[in-house]
Amino acid sequence: MTYPNTQLFIRGQWLDAADGKTLAVFNPATGQEIGRVAHASRVDLDQALLAAQDGFALWRDTPAIERNKVMRRAAALMRERAGDIAVLLTQEQGKPLPEAKVEALAAADIIEWFADEGLRVYGRIVPSRGNLAIRQMVLKDPVGPVAAFTPWNFPINQVVRKLAAALATGCSMIVKAPEETPAAPAQLIRAFADAGLPPGVLGLVYGNPAEISSYLIAHPVIRKITFTGSTPVGKQLAALAGQHMKRVTMELGGHAPVIVAEDADIALAVKSAGAAKFRNAGQVCISPTRFLVHESITKDFAAALVAHAQSLKVGNGRDEGVQMGPLANPRRVTAMAEFTQDAVQQGATVAYGGARIGEAGNFWQPTILTDVPLNAKVFNDEPFGPMAAIRSFNTLEDAIAEANRLPYGLAGYAFTRSLKNADLLSRKVEVGMLWVNMPAMPSAEMPFGGIKDSGYGSEGGPEAMEAYLNTRSVAVMNA
Ligand code: NAD
Repeated sequence: MTYPNTQLFIRGQWLDAADGKTLAVFNPATGQEIGRVAHASRVDLDQALLAAQDGFALWRDTPAIERNKVMRRAAALMRERAGDIAVLLTQEQGKPLPEAKVEALAAADIIEWFADEGLRVYGRIVPSRGNLAIRQMVLKDPVGPVAAFTPWNFPINQVVRKLAAALATGCSMIVKAPEETPAAPAQLIRAFADAGLPPGVLGLVYGNPAEISSYLIAHPVIRKITFTGSTPVGKQLAALAGQHMKRVTMELGGHAPVIVAEDADIALAVKSAGAAKFRNAGQVCISPTRFLVHESITKDFAAALVAHAQSLKVGNGRDEGVQMGPLANPRRVTAMAEFTQDAVQQGATVAYGGARIGEAGNFWQPTILTDVPLNAKVFNDEPFGPMAAIRSFNTLEDAIAEANRLPYGLAGYAFTRSLKNADLLSRKVEVGMLWVNMPAMPSAEMPFGGIKDSGYGSEGGPEAMEAYLNTRSVAVMNA
């Protein structure tokens, strides 16, 4: 599939922006412009809002079983088209082709799970305290048109988690997808359009993120906001949503601790955390970032992680056998250089990597820093790149205290052979998602989301459906 220009999707039609404005899209492996994406103005947003209002009226009253059928058809189309979609995703985002294909296929699984969950949105009857003529009902209704803002690291996945739950509950949605990686999310929307989703239920826009979010969040048609991205932007959007009393889900940044206890299986820890660390070149909100290793095994662990990093084939994600692609944009390369320079200045050692690869494209070496002091920037700000920072700890309590030191609370990892340690870690590490002796395994049926500054709300499990539902009490006296 040749890389396409991407249009807006409003009321079931693919459209250029009303004023014809477009933005360039670049291939991060080459730095070359590969296409353009339409840039919406106020006029386009107003059309999308009207369509979402009409789409909601229609979809809300569509029986759940009919919604389920459309969603299942969309899932089947995603599965059929995953190979072609992966090529687009790799071209605009950089991740290796197999990772891109997994993302497109996972979208199908997510859509199906939520489609079926949509069949089970039940209310309940609650017996009245005294008067048997009173029937008390708890009703669940879709919250209304939703505005979704999604980032460039998982251009399909970040949209589908929101969209599948919203559509399954009967909401309509306007997606503001990432301008840097527009074609892959557009294919997701296309799958729904081709599956027969009525016009207006789903809209897709691109443009200036701050202008679009401030307009949509404040607009009376929009009843719910969902955002995935950095903590500072999330706080701004949540504050704006608060001013307009809009429901909010925030999936924000993380700085995942990896606690490797004295009794850990080091090979397992390196294999699991190593693979997770360099997946999508570390541009993952649940990427392991702060490696806290018991002092008796730090040397062995670091050496094994360096060997793992050395073995990785880095290159253009379209090339056979490549395990790590470029960073998605030049901003991340600058950030990696700053994190490395700062860590070294603070006394850390670059055990592997720490430099840009070549001149063309946004390539950065898989990087492992050891003896990283707590005040180094990389131990405080989310690196969001292929960078592992390692420090030793003495007692498990110290490691837990360090894990909890930062305001982030998204994901965490731990490796230990002791049930007692595992239980302590499960109770004490302040994260929304903890994986013990295994890599991260998010799935549609498990809650996905953070605590503390990593946000609120969940994008998996029944909790993700609740985020798109209003709960109402109705009592009827049988007069
Ligand atoms: P950024 O903070 O400028 O943007 C992050 C995302 O938010 C982007 O998709 C952007 O388009 C969007 N955004 C920015 N301002 C917005 C606004 N006012 N309204 C609506 N959307 C807005 O940074 P960036 O350089 O694009 O990404 C770097 C940082 O973002 C990383 O360090 C990481 O912390 C975070 N990030 C997190 C995730 C995640 O999965 N949680 C994904 C991508 C980026």
